Amino acid sequence: MMRTLTINTKDVSYPVVVGSNIIDQLPYYLHQTGINTRQILIITDSNVGPLYLNKIVNILEGYKVITYTVPAGESAKSIIQMEAIIEFAIKEGLTRNSLIIALGGGVVGDLAGFVAAVYLRGIPFIQIPTTILAHDSSVGGKVAINHTLGKNLIGSFHHPQLVFFDTIFLRTLPEREVKAGLAEVVKHGLIADLQFANLLYENAKELLELNLDYLNEVIYKGIGIKAAIVSQDEREQGIRAILNYGHTLAHSIETNSHYEYLHGEAVAIGMVFASKLAMQMGLTDDITVKYTIEILRRFSLPVSISSEFNSAQLIDTMMRDKKFLNNNIRMILPTELGKVKIVEGINKELLFAVIEELKTN
Ligand code: ADP
Ligand code: ZN
Repeated sequence: MMRTLTINTKDVSYPVVVGSNIIDQLPYYLHQTGINTRQILIITDSNVGPLYLNKIVNILEGYKVITYTVPAGESAKSIIQMEAIIEFAIKEGLTRNSLIIALGGGVVGDLAGFVAAVYLRGIPFIQIPTTILAHDSSVGGKVAINHTLGKNLIGSFHHPQLVFFDTIFLRTLPEREVKAGLAEVVKHGLIADLQFANLLYENAKELLELNLDYLNEVIYKGIGIKAAIVSQDEREQGIRAILNYGHTLAHSIETNSHYEYLHGEAVAIGMVFASKLAMQMGLTDDITVKYTIEILRRFSLPVSISSEFNSAQLIDTMMRDKKFLNNNIRMILPTELGKVKIVEGINKELLFAVIEELKTN
């Protein structure tokens, strides 16, 4: 079974294919999508490569395929790695007619996508996500690498020409990554679709056991929610910002813990934070907070932070967030379950107090 949905923005349109055991059909989809390159650079990481690279290189017989493997982990999203890949690409003679394939999770997708965005002022790329989390990051065209001062501070908008998601690859995903990935699926429910959140709540067990029927369904739905939002606002002039729900504190937690927290774990904490902040500001009631905590607990996700975090430091990092203008603290806050809005001018002392409270959950 496979399903396709289309991302439509003002400038581009591309298919997202989701299914299990579909990888053999990749050449067909490349063709369908109008990709008629001969030369392909596959970028992957040191965990995914040994598992799936050979298989994909074999499937792509007839193409001239070269591969580049980066070390697994967030540290690969660096200027140094980017430079190394670009040097490799230049020496191998990769041209504007070549294709880059990102084979891996969000880290590989962001890095390979950013290389594709800047190499020769931009060449085509496609995403083959291998994590649940990447159901989110592979769609929508945001690509980036990190600066030591903060996550995703160097980046671009560069859409893939195809997202080809074979969920069979998820079977080898470490359990902690499964949970963290599901946090981003929960986010899609909490920002836009309470019914979807309830479905996740009720089927947490099946999802955690990697039941592919359930996974295909929720990944498809999660991408659908994202697609609808991105189609309305490709460049984040407005509504697209709601996809950053939980992310302002999350990025700060990631940076300040030196990526000891996985992105999804940090987003889980960030969503609890946002719900508590909204309650303090009188924007929502404690049902929102309780439900948020409960659904995240169903997936064994963290809902509090260690008391070792320095709250002032967390806020300092937050203030460097791309989305803040002139010290105006802008966040996505829930108004009710399944609904959020953009709120400006949030009080810094209140932020501090709610972060402190997060240490006691
Ligand atoms: P994310 O998608 O969560 O942003 P990463 O790209 O860092 O994050 O992937 C998370 C971790 O899981 C990395 O260590 C990566 O190598 C590993 N990984 C990714 N996909 C798979 C898979 N299908 N099977 C096993 N490990 C995987
Ligand atoms: Zn995210």
